[in-house]
Amino acid sequence: CGIVGYVGAQSALDVVMAGLRRLEYRGYDSAGVAVLADGGLATAKRAGKLVNLEKELGEHPLPAGTTGIGHTRWATHGGPTDANAHPHLDNAGRVAVVHNGIIENFAVLRAELTERGHALASETDTEVVAHLLAEEFSASADLAEAMRLVCRRLEGAFTLVAVHADEPDVVVGARRNSPLVVGVGEGETFLASDVAAFIAHTREAIELGQDQVVELRRDGVTVTGFDGSPAEVRAYHVDWDASA
Ligand code: GLU
Repeated sequence: CGIVGYVGAQSALDVVMAGLRRLEYRGYDSAGVAVLADGGLATAKRAGKLVNLEKELGEHPLPAGTTGIGHTRWATHGGPTDANAHPHLDNAGRVAVVHNGIIENFAVLRAELTERGHALASETDTEVVAHLLAEEFSASADLAEAMRLVCRRLEGAFTLVAVHADEPDVVVGARRNSPLVVGVGEGETFLASDVAAFIAHTREAIELGQDQVVELRRDGVTVTGFDGSPAEVRAYHVDWDASA
């Protein structure tokens, strides 16, 4: 339901958790985060309110990192459990993905993945994307390219945001029939389902168009179509009152 991503110099966990709090008004049943740190990927997720996730993070702190993603879930496929909460990972635990919307052809993709030896750990439509990204990344070592290739195989409405432990200063997002906004700061970049999530940090925004993929780095962003063609970017300044 709500998505936040961050690449920069600040604590990604702090930025992402504050962003998720700004999106709480939308309603949700579970929440989770992933942070890239020490060459690996660390995640925490809990059914229920953000306070449950905060309690889990208090008891089992994540290593400090400056690249991260977060999600508040409104379950459509699979009940509101810890296991079905996002982020979802591949079997090696190197890719994490969060998702708003519905992947309509997930059952076919899931059967194909199972046949190729993947073990799926949740009942969600989302998890197939983590496994597909892992397969494509192993060929290209480029998460944005992996995302473009995976999106071309998906049907439905989705905002997807992913990180890979082998690309530690990159967050990749994609959208079709579901919103995704990018924030461009000084030495840091953001993405979210709603500008409210990052407006405390920057008011320079880019609205992602239909069937586009964005790669976030500290020093800027690159936007392409699902086919890899360079995309026209709609940049704007957010001038409404952030406290509203
Ligand atoms: N369809 C996904 C799920 O049920 C995402 C739901 C959402 O938009 O939060 O996990």
